[in-house]
Amino acid sequence: MSDTAANIELSVIIPVYNEEAGLAALFARLYPALDALNTRYEIVFVNDGSRDRSAALLAAQHAARPDVTRAILFAANFGQHMAILAGFEHAHGQYVVTLDADLQNPPEEIGRILEQLRAGHDYVGTIRQLRQDSAWRRYASRMINRMRERSTRIHITDQGCMMRGYARNVVDAVNACSEVSTFVPALAYTFAQRPTEIHIRHEERFAGESKYSLYSLIRLNFDLMTGFSLLPLQFVSMAGMLLSLLSGAFVTYLFIRRLVVGPEAEGLFTLFGIAFFLIGILLFAVGLIGEYVGRIYQQVRARPRYLVQAVLETNDHPSTPRGTQP
Ligand code: UDP
Ligand code: MG
Repeated sequence: MSDTAANIELSVIIPVYNEEAGLAALFARLYPALDALNTRYEIVFVNDGSRDRSAALLAAQHAARPDVTRAILFAANFGQHMAILAGFEHAHGQYVVTLDADLQNPPEEIGRILEQLRAGHDYVGTIRQLRQDSAWRRYASRMINRMRERSTRIHITDQGCMMRGYARNVVDAVNACSEVSTFVPALAYTFAQRPTEIHIRHEERFAGESKYSLYSLIRLNFDLMTGFSLLPLQFVSMAGMLLSLLSGAFVTYLFIRRLVVGPEAEGLFTLFGIAFFLIGILLFAVGLIGEYVGRIYQQVRARPRYLVQAVLETNDHPSTPRGTQP
């Protein structure tokens, strides 16, 4: 770490994907909110391969506030969590706070997360008050939260909110991981020694639309489930065991019945019904194993997790010239 970097207390990491419509409003609230904290901070924007003018807007912002602004430009779209991981790897701060670019997480709340970090918590989770999202997303997310809470040892009340704080020890631990598909808050949580959670405000998206389709939300939740738990696999094999026990008993019953009462031919469609149901479970189980195998495959291929096209940063901070300290 360079001399100047060592003095930075807070790094704010913001993934950006096609957010041109809202970036100006974000800048207008973010910088004053951070300036008001009266500490040395940096903002690390990660452009996740936006196809709109986001990258140009970030470059302009870097030119306007080079002292505190850095931008990592991805060569393509690698997803929000990869963008945050890139931010983690580039962050210099003693503490890191992640934030969405769409102003759903109010920048004015950063100070409250920082307070918790300063108080010694190395992971600060957040719970959204009055969540401003569509009803089906709120409902689905409540279900998934409950499922994950039971199947992993990760206690995150509201997994969807990405405005969170991490201390340096947790950031370093996450940086030491090389997972290709992951869910950053959950990964970080596993390394935290003094986690805490606070309530924060949640606002409606300032501009544009959610960048998550139903499909990418499902993919993300598979990442979360398979990345932190083997329980889905164990559940499937348990179900298989139970079913074979049951069908064993059933076959025995049929055999005895045949000897006592004689052959039976009715209930053909009931049999079809049961068979289709079991085939459904079987296909799901094969698919589930595929989810794990696919991730293992990605991992062993060991391709780069993301590709950086450019990093915009200014190294000479006027207040602490480089090379003046031992
Ligand atoms: N995002 C990203 N890459 C993606 C999708 C989203 O960097 O592939 C960013 C996006 O620009 C935003 C944040 O991740 O800053 C959260 O995305 P969004 O607001 O669309 O998600 P939602 O709030 O609907 O869960
Ligand atoms: Mg959003």
